[in-house]
Amino acid sequence: MKKKLIVGNWKMNGSLAANAALIAALKDGLAAQAADAGCGVAVAVPAPYLAQVQALVEGSRIALASQDVSQHAVGAYTGETSVEMLREFGVRYTLVGHSERRQYHGETDAVVAAKAQRALAAGITPIVCVGETLAERETGETENVVKRQLAAVVHAVGHCVTELVVAYEPVWAIGTGRTATPEQAQEVHAVLRAQLAAATTHAQDIALLYGGSMNAANAAQLLAQPDIDGGLVGGAALKAADFLQIIAAAD
Ligand code: PEP
Repeated sequence: MKKKLIVGNWKMNGSLAANAALIAALKDGLAAQAADAGCGVAVAVPAPYLAQVQALVEGSRIALASQDVSQHAVGAYTGETSVEMLREFGVRYTLVGHSERRQYHGETDAVVAAKAQRALAAGITPIVCVGETLAERETGETENVVKRQLAAVVHAVGHCVTELVVAYEPVWAIGTGRTATPEQAQEVHAVLRAQLAAATTHAQDIALLYGGSMNAANAAQLLAQPDIDGGLVGGAALKAADFLQIIAAAD
């Protein structure tokens, strides 16, 4: 069976002390679980804490992820972080196209696709976030929106499509406590899987994560859906006990 992947997105939260306490609690909790416990685990941390968290997760099951990456290689792009910089800190995954980046920073499908390409070329796995707003869901646009967002990336990365991780995150479910039902999530995941299957014969091997108010109480049901291969977890990833329960549901 394919291993699941649980990624915590800390967003703009944390401090040196809080990060150390959270990672210590996660490491304790993971050590208490079966040694061969199965799912992949990663935390997407704010850029200033990459070095700290890299050192803290060393030798553990927890991989390091970035919340964003520049589409550019190097140069006059104030405030941005390049893939080569991320590589120096052992970053294994980077989110691209999180809805908060699309909404507050004007990231277009083309920018998201360029970021995914840039990450792949550096050996960092992009976690490509797609998802519809509430208005788009209510007007029946969900399928069109997520397909358009994913198509831009699939087109840009060509045969590297199998290296992607895709996260379906309905915008109306992010940070709202309003989760998609397992059926709603599965329906969209099946659409995304079919779209990937048109691009590669290995679509089953591509991890499709669900994100949007996933928590300790709803994770197991969501993760039981046939096309849900893991979770992208925001708020609940900041509480060690909750995040550990989500990981346990995926193991
Ligand atoms: C997210 O930020 O990707 C997310 C899913 O947040 P939350 O779990 O808090 O809804």
